[in-house]
Amino acid sequence: MTLIDLHTHTTASDGSLSPAALVAAAQEAGLAAVAVTDHDSIAGLAEALAAGQERGLEVVPGVEISLQRPGGGSMHLLGLWVDPEDPGLNQGLAWLQRARAQRNPRIVDRLNGLGVPLTLAEVQAAAAGGQVGRPHFAQVLVDKGVAANRQEAFGRFLKRGAPAYVDKARFAPAQGLALLRAAGGLPVLAHPGLLDLHPAVLEELLRELKGLGLEGLEAYYSEHDPALERRLLGLAARLELAVSGGSDFHGGLKPDIRLGTGLGTLRVPAALLAGLKARRRRMLAGA
Ligand SMILES: [Zn+2]
Ligand SMILES: [Zn+2]
Repeated sequence: MTLIDLHTHTTASDGSLSPAALVAAAQEAGLAAVAVTDHDSIAGLAEALAAGQERGLEVVPGVEISLQRPGGGSMHLLGLWVDPEDPGLNQGLAWLQRARAQRNPRIVDRLNGLGVPLTLAEVQAAAAGGQVGRPHFAQVLVDKGVAANRQEAFGRFLKRGAPAYVDKARFAPAQGLALLRAAGGLPVLAHPGLLDLHPAVLEELLRELKGLGLEGLEAYYSEHDPALERRLLGLAARLELAVSGGSDFHGGLKPDIRLGTGLGTLRVPAALLAGLKARRRRMLAGA
């Protein structure tokens, strides 16, 4: 069976391979196509598309954004075949990146207010020039002896509901779906299994999202077991949603997850591509 991988990250977000290196790795892995779907960023797409053209490998330009989840928290949405030049998409992603940059100083303020002496510079040093996130705060809290380990740092300070928690800025579902659609991106709910919802609740959520413009779901995913995969394929058929699949490859940052094969058993059939493309053509035609 010919395989593809429609969910990967590069150095444009929190992956460890450059876009060109990722495309090379996809070709070495024997994949027929690879989508580049960095978090809140399309900065890697031009390089990935050029590498794909050079190598004769199909590269799907994509992005992964977070949406507000009803009841709190987030859910992830992939946009496949987005236009990297779309002004609305560029503005929307710039807004998310500004919000992210404003979040970290607020976490520092909260920690200082709790009597924890910590500076943004220390956290940035822990991120070694990459995107700063809560794992880096946890690292500094451990290094300073404020928490015994990362888990304690999250539990006492950083997790949702803890005193130094600052919520992330996210799009409302309707807003995020419209943003991707307007940029030509086929909106696909990423890793529905990670939402950890009762089957009936997930089905209700998918119906709601479909009403707002969702076109597909990621049934094939590294951390979906075979039973869940079958259930999601059935759900997609019943709700008339397209099926996608990918590993969520991050390179060395998530070393267990391999490009294409995920934790070892992932198989995303290349035959899905035709269905996804047809679905997108219908979307663009307004059908
Ligand atoms: Zn995700
Ligand atoms: Zn991802």
